[in-house]
Amino acid sequence: MQRVNSFIVDHTRLEPGIYESKINGAYTYDVRFVAPRDAVKNGVFMNPKVAHTLEHFLADYLRTKTAEEFSEKVLYVGPMGCLTGFYLLTTEPFEPQFLRELILEALEHILKAKDDEIPGASELTCGNYRYFDLEGTQNFINGVIVPNFKSELFSVDYPLIEA
Ligand SMILES: [Zn+2]
Repeated sequence: MQRVNSFIVDHTRLEPGIYESKINGAYTYDVRFVAPRDAVKNGVFMNPKVAHTLEHFLADYLRTKTAEEFSEKVLYVGPMGCLTGFYLLTTEPFEPQFLRELILEALEHILKAKDDEIPGASELTCGNYRYFDLEGTQNFINGVIVPNFKSELFSVDYPLIEA
């Protein structure tokens, strides 16, 4: 369970959003595509192929297709095991609303991509290079992530409960 000082993030009240979750050497952003209650009750979360496809595209976009002031500060981008969002680690802090716009830009880029354009999808550079689903990813972006990231529910403040 994630802990923020002496508080615990209440996942039952967690909304889609971008949260600064931990600061210890690196800045960790909880890029939450889906509210956990929506995942549990309605089965709305990334399937593993979608998570893998998003991982390749988001890592490539954030590291190579953004301004240097941002791209050179990206340490890591990868999916959460619960499949409701991604972690983004940076060497310096960024405003969640800035990251929201950047992620939306990256998603627009993925929506225009074709099957042979998945970054790093080769035997040499990936552990499972045929395990992708671009069409499913584009459907998930259009049907879930973009509506959630543009909705009024989008939040940058963790709902906390005292530990
Ligand atoms: Zn891979």
